[in-house]
Amino acid sequence: MPGEAKTYSDKTHYEVIVVGAGVAGIYQIKRLVDLGIEATVLDSAADLGGTWYWNRYPGCRFDSESYTYGFSFSRELLDEWHWKERFSGQPENLRYLNYVADKFDLRKYMQFNCKVEAMRFDEVSDLWHVKVGDGRTLTCRFVVLAIGLLSAPTLPRVEGVDDFKGRSFHTYYWPHEPVDLAGKRVAVIGTGATGIQLIGEIADKVADLTVFQRRPNWSAPLNNSAISESEMADIRARYDEIFAACALTPGSFVHGPDSRGFYEVSREERLALWDKLYDEPGFGIWLANFREIFMDEAANAELSAYIADRIRRRVRDPKTAEKLIPRDHGFGVQRLPLETNYFEAYNRDNVHLVDLGETPLVRVTETGLRTTADDYEFDIIVYATGFDAITGAYDLIDIRGIGGEKLADKWKQAPSTFLGMLVHGFPNLLMPTGPQSASASTNFPRGIENGVNWCMDLLQHIRSHGYVRADATLEAQQRWTAHVAKMYEIMLMRKAKSWFTGYNSNVAGHEEGTVRYFVYNGGTPKFLGIIKDVAARGYPEIAFSAPSRADGKAMAASA
Ligand code: NAP
Repeated sequence: MPGEAKTYSDKTHYEVIVVGAGVAGIYQIKRLVDLGIEATVLDSAADLGGTWYWNRYPGCRFDSESYTYGFSFSRELLDEWHWKERFSGQPENLRYLNYVADKFDLRKYMQFNCKVEAMRFDEVSDLWHVKVGDGRTLTCRFVVLAIGLLSAPTLPRVEGVDDFKGRSFHTYYWPHEPVDLAGKRVAVIGTGATGIQLIGEIADKVADLTVFQRRPNWSAPLNNSAISESEMADIRARYDEIFAACALTPGSFVHGPDSRGFYEVSREERLALWDKLYDEPGFGIWLANFREIFMDEAANAELSAYIADRIRRRVRDPKTAEKLIPRDHGFGVQRLPLETNYFEAYNRDNVHLVDLGETPLVRVTETGLRTTADDYEFDIIVYATGFDAITGAYDLIDIRGIGGEKLADKWKQAPSTFLGMLVHGFPNLLMPTGPQSASASTNFPRGIENGVNWCMDLLQHIRSHGYVRADATLEAQQRWTAHVAKMYEIMLMRKAKSWFTGYNSNVAGHEEGTVRYFVYNGGTPKFLGIIKDVAARGYPEIAFSAPSRADGKAMAASA
């Protein structure tokens, strides 16, 4: 039982197995321990932290205000922790997660270096059989997948990736020991949020930096700053207010949309708002803007022209500036990367931009990279090439539901879920931040807490009724997926090639052409209203079963 000083590695059965010891897994196990439910967390990493354990590249930090990213469940924790920066960096974020796990004594429920390779639902016993990389097979009534949305990194599908004789790594696998960048010739491939953070951070620390950009990304200043003791005291006093404000905004950030209509105000007033927001910290320029920028082509084009001009003002060489301005999508229709000194990096003599749109990457060589125009030599190649997002981490586990159906096959064209948290045909499988949930498109920990809380209410409902199986109905799942698709229809984001629409040139089947309805875009308040309503009505969209005779035997056997 929770609280006992017992090693869990000799046990073979749990009520709940949580996969993933990141932000979601940590909160998930806290809730399970508080409910007195026997559970363990399995993670392939050597320690906890998830995204903040893996992504150690220079410049890696929050794009959410730190004090809106932290857990909200414990007043004591809120009062104890001092966020040192408005947008805290990876080392501090990892320290925070360790602090939380240690404060609530959660580490003892976690098993590391435990890669979950396969999971099979046993229809007779209503138990999941979970196969771990170390050879063990564990059983449990419920599995909670807390495996992240951006945790399956992808490399370019070009020849020679293994031929390079220097050092090379994906940003997700940035080495744990310090990487000596001084005097090095470094290549960065990719200009998403990761590349943009990294480039701004290392431009003045390397001998030579060459950025390989296929398509430019819109980006705006992070405007980070330190948080003093007195500011932190003020934040602590306002935590309730801050979290309440987050709950009311579509993205669960402190930034909510401007209440005025884009066309109700003059162009001068729009420019005044944009001038103000561009210089303010965080996502304001994206999320405190007019709602129309996400849905109306003309409104979006006017804002995009404004931001393009800002880029031109910051990049000295006009040709380079033009290359850094996106032409294929408008501002904010992909998740907005926030930057520090990114555009100024291109004003440095040691930073060069290679436009892969003009001269595509041909292969990696022993000494560097070859494009259709040139050979480039490097000491280090960094792949900031993104992730097989949303479903990628699920596809890496062989998950078999009713009738042996494989989840990866079911989701091959696109995921389909009920509320982003359940999948028909895969009973007792909970996904607090699954595909098509709101947490995928919002300030992640806020979405995580909502998702975990809903899953735990469901779990209590199941247990209090003595059910052993819970499976969302196919009809409910189809209705939810249609609703998620409808939310895309009104958003300009449906036209952008980004991980929000399931685009990734490095993953077979995810190249251009198919829009996958990956995330719920209706906003947190609407999402919360829907999921709370399902619970209040007693979960009519979920089929529950009581134990069969065979199941009773299985329960007895595993007790
Ligand atoms: P990403 O947005 O998918 O960007 C990947 C980049 O690599 C793009 O520029 C892409 O070019 C390029 N690329 C991919 N494959 C390539 C290839 N074969 N050849 C050349 N270029 C290639 O991934 P990310 O930057 O890691 O960001 C993903 C998400 O992680 C973000 O949207 C955000 O949600 C999250 N994130 C958050 C933070 C934070 O501030 N908290 C920081 C980093 C990441 P194309 O655009 O042409 O595909």
